[in-house]
Amino acid sequence: MKSIAVIGASLAGLYAARALRAQGFDGRLVIVGDEPHYPYDRPPLSKDFLTGATATHGQLALADAEETTELDAEWLLGTRATGLDTGARTVLLDGGRSLVTDGVVIATGAAPRRLPGPAPAGTHTLRTLDDAQALRADLTRGPADVVVIGGGFIGAEVASSCAALGHHVTVVEAATLPLVPQLGAEMARFCASLHADHDVRLLTGTGVARLRGDGPGNRVTGVELTDGRLLPASVVVVGIGVRPRTDWLAGSGLPLDDGVRCDAGCVTPLPTVVAVGDVATVDGTRAEHWTSATEQATVAVRNLLAGRTVATHRAVPYFWSDQYGVRLQFAGHRRAADTPRILEGSPDDRSFLACYEREGRTTAVLAVNRPRPFQRLRRELARATQPTGA
Ligand code: FAD
Ligand code: NAP
Repeated sequence: MKSIAVIGASLAGLYAARALRAQGFDGRLVIVGDEPHYPYDRPPLSKDFLTGATATHGQLALADAEETTELDAEWLLGTRATGLDTGARTVLLDGGRSLVTDGVVIATGAAPRRLPGPAPAGTHTLRTLDDAQALRADLTRGPADVVVIGGGFIGAEVASSCAALGHHVTVVEAATLPLVPQLGAEMARFCASLHADHDVRLLTGTGVARLRGDGPGNRVTGVELTDGRLLPASVVVVGIGVRPRTDWLAGSGLPLDDGVRCDAGCVTPLPTVVAVGDVATVDGTRAEHWTSATEQATVAVRNLLAGRTVATHRAVPYFWSDQYGVRLQFAGHRRAADTPRILEGSPDDRSFLACYEREGRTTAVLAVNRPRPFQRLRRELARATQPTGA
């Protein structure tokens, strides 16, 4: 291959570019990103960046200036890919431009879902640095009634940061308990109790009817719930999940269903096109976690350069979350019926190690403020799986 275009200039795109050079690709490398920024890290956006502990863009950068130069890539930032013509090996760009390329890495991530209806000023979603800057500006105007819609990862972490800033916070969650799909009911109950520890109100089992806005600038004043309650609000954060950013691939012929469908090596039915990160449905699963995005890049690039699937991504899924001064770490393939068992510590002390079991076998591990033993169990889980070539 003489030229490769990486579409999406964030975590998965950067790791793919690094892997391309590390694996010996010395041809033309173009990285296209619709944000104006070089790749930066998103996890701090809901945590230290909101509270002000990590204050600058520089502290979020995923690569320093030296590495950015060393990659010897053409960075087309502030540029959106609008289409992929696989027959003509062409990526269409906004402004009528196009890019002819032998290979394509799709790394366009995901975008927040939005509530239907109008969003008055003071209503936020959180995905980008620009989103986080806008939210932080609203949170530094003085004490606010913050309503966080969605009790998933964004919701829990934003609620925690807002509580740390001294705001009055309510979380509204449609399900009867948040984080059940990720952690199961028992451990999800533990997470829900963290909100109460910090005087954050958690309202579950209710949806949002509409956001109310009036007054000067049509700022948000309240959230009407489907059960009839009205919550006063001067800031609203909507964290109700994401949708993969595949819009630009419509008509490309690639299989799209909740992401770009790939085999276990991140390869689409076209061997010259691979997909990585939040946008990729790899062997039937779409992960939305930092570590998966980085691991998939290495495997995808190996297959892209080989022209066929010679390696597969079989790593044990891993994520972490920081909420209310607690670090949660999870690794494994948990199924709904798996039973959690506390191995050490206690939920009451906000510090414990647990495993999930199925027929006497450990399928996943969860740690709360127990990083060392967690890493040991995570390694053991990894040894029990058989990655090929990754
Ligand atoms: P993204 O980071 O979404 O990057 C995709 C890039 O492609 C974006 O820059 C986007 O603008 C660009 N793009 C999209 N479409 C186009 C187009 N048509 N043309 C050009 N460019 C395009 N995970 C954890 O494991 N732990 C955490 O604690 C954690 N915290 C998080 C906190 C926040 C606030 C957020 C938002 C996410 C967090 N995550 C966390 C998830 C993690 O950040 C994502 O899994 C990771 O960012 C995925 O990387 P990606 O490169 O696939 O996608
Ligand atoms: P999420 O984890 O999917 O959680 C969204 C939550 O909102 C779910 O509990 C969902 O309930 C609920 N919900 C959906 N519609 C709702 C509505 N109308 N009203 C009230 N609640 C509603 O998504 P997220 O928290 O928005 O996070 C976005 C992305 O960022 C994800 O990819 C996530 O993995 C990533 N992220 C990760 C971390 C981390 O790993 N630490 C941290 C922050 C962000 P149902 O499930 O019942 O629909």
